[in-house]
Amino acid sequence: MSHQRGTESTGADQSALRDRLAALRGPGRQPRPLDSRALTALAANPGCSRRALLDSAGVDKAALAEVLGAPANFGQSQFAFARGHAFEAGATRDGGAELVRLLCAHTGQAPPDPQLLECPDLTAEGPEGRIERTREALALAQARGQTGAEGGPGGWSVLLHPMVRLTVAGAPVCLEPDALVVDGDGGVTIVEIKSFPILDGSAAPTKVGAATRQAAVYGLALEAMEVRAAESVLLVCPKDFSNLPTAALVDMRKQLAAVRRQLRRLTRVEELTAALPAGTSFDLDLPPDRLAGAVDSVPAAYAPECLAGCDLAFHCRSQARTGNDPAVLGRGTRAELGALTTVKAALDAAHSDPPPPEPSDPTHPAGPSDPPDPAVLALRRAARLRAEVLGGDGAAGADGAGPAGGGPCR
Ligand code: SF4
Repeated sequence: MSHQRGTESTGADQSALRDRLAALRGPGRQPRPLDSRALTALAANPGCSRRALLDSAGVDKAALAEVLGAPANFGQSQFAFARGHAFEAGATRDGGAELVRLLCAHTGQAPPDPQLLECPDLTAEGPEGRIERTREALALAQARGQTGAEGGPGGWSVLLHPMVRLTVAGAPVCLEPDALVVDGDGGVTIVEIKSFPILDGSAAPTKVGAATRQAAVYGLALEAMEVRAAESVLLVCPKDFSNLPTAALVDMRKQLAAVRRQLRRLTRVEELTAALPAGTSFDLDLPPDRLAGAVDSVPAAYAPECLAGCDLAFHCRSQARTGNDPAVLGRGTRAELGALTTVKAALDAAHSDPPPPEPSDPTHPAGPSDPPDPAVLALRRAARLRAEVLGGDGAAGADGAGPAGGGPCR
């Protein structure tokens, strides 16, 4: 599979691609916008053409999974949603003054005079209008800051819910960071507001990692606008068990490099659409079996991690199980299995007899010419140990429920 970007598309190419993706969604269906969370999940599995195509086409994967009979039930409860909104409203009150205070507390900068803090209105018609308005406001805010760098006090600005754009796999994606703070020197800091708490100065590493990857996606989008953001994101969260905001500055250089690399590896959408069978459609009004056929015609790269981040996870897992795909065992195990490309092949190998010792061969005094597959040796050994632990008769199969793989463990 080719993963490298080619030359940039022309406007006509982009328009043809948009039409093609709209046709895949079905007549009259609006594209479902990608947020940075979805983009981060997409970047985390760059080998999955299925997700790349469905996300680029703006297909509602949650609704698709529902029609396929395999809903994932992601999402927050109404209560958590309302609490998150209330927290964000509090953290961004007074035109972002609290965000500036939190940032200064971590960088050591002197907080600006409230008179010198601006929160520009970023409302505009449609995503294109909002992106343009963000671009103008950002340029103006940086110019205000740079004025200060030349002598007088620089003006600070907080851009709440700006809109930026990133080209992903050849298709443009609109993104909405929580906030950008432009300081008195014209420096830009990305702000991520999250509802998980910072308890006693630390937060769940997986959540911090996910938030930092999201911020890295915004960082790349800003780079595409020729704006270089600070290398650390200001992560704003509730303090302990209260609803008061506290913050941490988190270095996102590693995440920036990783997301940049992963996004580059995505196959271009043009290549994915060109490989589709004629008449493929993901229109949610189609009968489920036709939709399943369309979905399954696009190669997937299922891994257990999908269960935490993709609406189609149950569908893809079931397909992988039916196909005996060892990917269901996890990426690490799949890699260890090497040339054993099905679960059945791995079980057969585990229960296979070692080859008889070769008769001495004067031309090959050192023994067999083909060294045994280390994965097969490891599986045989694991099966033997398992049989010993279970009492030596090896009666239980690989799933612990009975004989498996065509024979007892040895
Ligand atoms: S669940 Fe399926 S579509 Fe989603 S990322 Fe995994 S393999 Fe791809």
